[in-house]
Amino acid sequence: MSGLSGAGVDYMAKNKSKSKSKSKNRRQGFRLSARVIIIACIAAVLALALSACFIFIDKLPGYIYNVTIPDTGSALIVTLEISNPLFSKTRAVSLLLGDKDIVIAACNNAAGRPTGDPLLDDGVLYIMTGRGSTTYLTYTAEVATPGKHGNRGDISGDYAVFDGEQALLLPTDCYSYKPGFDRASLMGEVRFAFYLPDGWEQITPRDPVVKPQWSDIYAITQDAFVFGKFTKVSGTAPGLDAYFLSGADPVSTEVLDGFNSLYTYYSQLIGSAPELYSIIALPKPGAGTPQVIGGAGRGSVAASFNQDLRRDWQLLSHRMFHAFFDSAVPFASFHMATNTWFYEGMATYYENMSMDALPGSLKTRLDIDVNRQMALLFNNYLYMRIKDTAAFGFPPMREDDIQADAAIEFLHYTTAPLLVKLLEDTARKKGVPPDSALRFCVNNGDSFDERFIAFEAAIEVLGEDDAQIYCESYLLSIDVPPLWDLKAYQPSDKDILDGLNDIEYVIGSWFKSIDESYPIDTVTYEQLQDAMANLNNNRVLFLSVGTSVKLEDYCLPLYALLNDYYYRAKQKGISYDDPDLRYKMFADETNIE
Ligand SMILES: [Zn+2]
Repeated sequence: MSGLSGAGVDYMAKNKSKSKSKSKNRRQGFRLSARVIIIACIAAVLALALSACFIFIDKLPGYIYNVTIPDTGSALIVTLEISNPLFSKTRAVSLLLGDKDIVIAACNNAAGRPTGDPLLDDGVLYIMTGRGSTTYLTYTAEVATPGKHGNRGDISGDYAVFDGEQALLLPTDCYSYKPGFDRASLMGEVRFAFYLPDGWEQITPRDPVVKPQWSDIYAITQDAFVFGKFTKVSGTAPGLDAYFLSGADPVSTEVLDGFNSLYTYYSQLIGSAPELYSIIALPKPGAGTPQVIGGAGRGSVAASFNQDLRRDWQLLSHRMFHAFFDSAVPFASFHMATNTWFYEGMATYYENMSMDALPGSLKTRLDIDVNRQMALLFNNYLYMRIKDTAAFGFPPMREDDIQADAAIEFLHYTTAPLLVKLLEDTARKKGVPPDSALRFCVNNGDSFDERFIAFEAAIEVLGEDDAQIYCESYLLSIDVPPLWDLKAYQPSDKDILDGLNDIEYVIGSWFKSIDESYPIDTVTYEQLQDAMANLNNNRVLFLSVGTSVKLEDYCLPLYALLNDYYYRAKQKGISYDDPDLRYKMFADETNIE
């Protein structure tokens, strides 16, 4: 077949090109539909992923505290902004009201419309927050409130100071504890905005924290929030800031050296320091004005400070111990019974030991003698324990069972430092380097999820056998720690008596706060002299013979007072082991405080 006509060729060519274009169209159609399918698939995957995000991702809300600081009155105004992210579930945010002195003023949504009152149940506020919503909770927080030994927080014309725990409503999760829980994020973020009176400055920095963990939030609750007219002290150690109220007397070199020496002492003891530590020395209280403690956390302390009082230096040192330790060991385990007595015992032990690090002139002026302080502490322990065995005879490892705040106070600040001293002294006699128990705690801080840190520390520094004796006798039982060598450091009879009257007053105030009729038994110097003069005529046996002999040899005035107490009990016909002995002793007397 040769010689096709032109028309035929055209036709063929047309047909060919038609069929080409058809197949091109078909291919384009395929491509188009493939593209649609791919896009549809991607959209479906995205939609699935998005719904999975909505179903499975649950981001925590962020909390912004907008705080208006006044220069008068006693309360702050706080607007808490709770932002629940889009990728989070609709949730009831629960905020612990606890014993905070807070009054809710309003609860609004982002449009400023009321969302209804938050539900209050058993000290917890519940607020419903939807996905992607922002809720504004406005409340007043009383911060200048009377506490046990002075004011907690203060607002004056020149400054305002408070601790985070007073002012901030925080999620209830921040207060609960289970092993490992303190490593989790507890909020999406926490940040602050402060609105101050004219001429005031924010003294303590407060940076935002993204995904804060337990230790970050604990620090916020404990730290001082300080605003006002303050002057920064120059010459402080790197990492340490110090402030006094503007207009106050300039800080002496001795005080500056004192701050720096405590800072150096703890840096060396703990082996590290907080990122920044601020000491804000509030004016010493005048006549009729109370002491103020406006917070003490890992970043700051703000408290009334009288440079001429040994007790104020000890308190500063105690708070610095906590700051340095909490920075090095940012875990909850040390803050939970049955580890808290051991932790507070270390803080109080080192509060005393650190006094030796103060400048010589200050030590002389304040009449500081570490051993004498320990002897006075041991006197206090013996006096209260023997007078009130039922109230104070708790084995430390049963800390969880103690109900009365007074008994916990006694365990933490009187019994516990003596048990830490006994552990330290026993270890030293075995040739173990000083402060080994503390270093063991710092170096292993992240591994303690159990509540028996004191056992582990004792085994570490004393070895298994001696640790067993130590733990069984003093931690699981209530044997008197044999610190009788402190006899060599007893001060004058008058100073011994002052110490005993002090502990009666401090512990008695705690008891009085729950029972007005609790008799505080303070003794005059004349009564002490009478008790000593009449000791041989009125002798009674109120202890085992062995302990009795040791006690009389250790401190005669202390022994004479206790003998006199039990002699009078015998005269009144009250049994020595009567749990109400103290009440019955003073039932018919009026000369008690
Ligand atoms: Zn403490």
